[in-house]
Amino acid sequence: MNLIGLSREELQNELEKMGEKPFRTKQLWHWIYWQGKTDFQEMSSLGKTLRNKLATNGYTVRRPTVLREQNSADRTRKWLFSFEDGQSVETVYIPEEDRGAVCLSTQIGCPNGCVFCHTGSQKFTRNLGASEIVAQFMAARDSYQEWPSPSQEPRYLSNIVVMGMGEPLLNYENVKKALRIIMDPEGIAISKRRITLSTCGIAPVIPLIAQDLGVKLAISLHAPNNEIRDQIMPINKKYPLEEVIDACKKFQEIGGTRQYITMEYVMLDGINDSDADARELIRLVKGLAVKFNLIPFNEWTGCPLKCSSEKRIKRFSELLEEHNYAAPVRQSRGQDIMAACGQLKSIFKNS
Ligand code: SAH
Ligand code: SF4
Repeated sequence: MNLIGLSREELQNELEKMGEKPFRTKQLWHWIYWQGKTDFQEMSSLGKTLRNKLATNGYTVRRPTVLREQNSADRTRKWLFSFEDGQSVETVYIPEEDRGAVCLSTQIGCPNGCVFCHTGSQKFTRNLGASEIVAQFMAARDSYQEWPSPSQEPRYLSNIVVMGMGEPLLNYENVKKALRIIMDPEGIAISKRRITLSTCGIAPVIPLIAQDLGVKLAISLHAPNNEIRDQIMPINKKYPLEEVIDACKKFQEIGGTRQYITMEYVMLDGINDSDADARELIRLVKGLAVKFNLIPFNEWTGCPLKCSSEKRIKRFSELLEEHNYAAPVRQSRGQDIMAACGQLKSIFKNS
């Protein structure tokens, strides 16, 4: 049994099964999530008896297998990780000057099939377990040898974006459990202010994020009205824009309006990038505290869509800024290794 991904209570249960006292939970938690140790023999404070018991009872602190690691010219790093059943996902690290974000995946494939998304073109296989989500981050830290958890800045792996493969809110229980483990101050200790979860808009779950986690929210909006959104995001038929916007209002009622929501908007030539689209977008988000993030569409073989011209993206951004919305254009990272937004795909063949 892999101990990664167990909540504190579950870890305590396992220890109790072996006749251990509750204080051991805190110690073991510290070795796993603060020190990053994988070998029980190195967990000195546990005592020899417990160290041996953990090993002989078949417990492990296992990371996924690294099937491939690629480094981009811009220093973005991408891993292909595989799990027990042979399924694999991609995880990306995007470095800035003295910090950086790890982009975590939450599903093998994605059931939503957004037409612009490479992951969405891949058949959905299964949800990732909490342990597989947490272990992606831990394996990324292994790769940069950033253990024990740095207690102060600078931290190289400082932020998390839940923006990899899959739709996190269709796997909410596991995502919630994983993020709670990652945020635990006695372990990996990434603060909620440094975590952003991106969703295509699973409306009923959105307010729960504010309630349960308090992390930042990004919405893959991508269209100013249902007509356009229906064409590019099939999920819009189930949760149309009104419901998504309403859910965002509830999110801010709970989390407060200082908690800006990022509206992600992929720039698609001739589809959603006109001046009229920008104006309609402004009307759509009225009453919400939002900022925009314009994403130049990353083209991929097999997808007929094209990216809007640079000039068009600039004009679109200016229109939003004229109405006092921040609307930066997201700089594409790791494109040479297919690590940019919407380019992730596992190698597992789904025929
Ligand atoms: N399922 C979640 C999170 C993963 S996608 C979601 O949809 O929000 C992360 C972001 O990349 C989303 O905003 C998604 O719409 C965007 N994206 C997907 N394919 C893209 C592409 N080809 N080019 C640019 N952005 C893309
Ligand atoms: Fe799934 Fe998000 Fe890609 Fe849509 S954009 S197919 S929801 S991963």
